[in-house]
Amino acid sequence: MEVKCVICGKREEIGKIHKDYDRLARDPKGLYICYFCSTRVHKQAKDSLKAPKPM
Ligand SMILES: [Zn+2]
Repeated sequence: MEVKCVICGKREEIGKIHKDYDRLARDPKGLYICYFCSTRVHKQAKDSLKAPKPM
């Protein structure tokens, strides 16, 4: 199944063992985020939670 990352637009082929395969097979309009973007988003979310601490 070919999917397209909603963030970077990269097309990827995913197999049945992919964690998002069932969800995307059921819902073709479901959003797919590639591994690279998901790690980047998680990192940004973590960084934004950290308020800058005054020295
Ligand atoms: Zn991506």
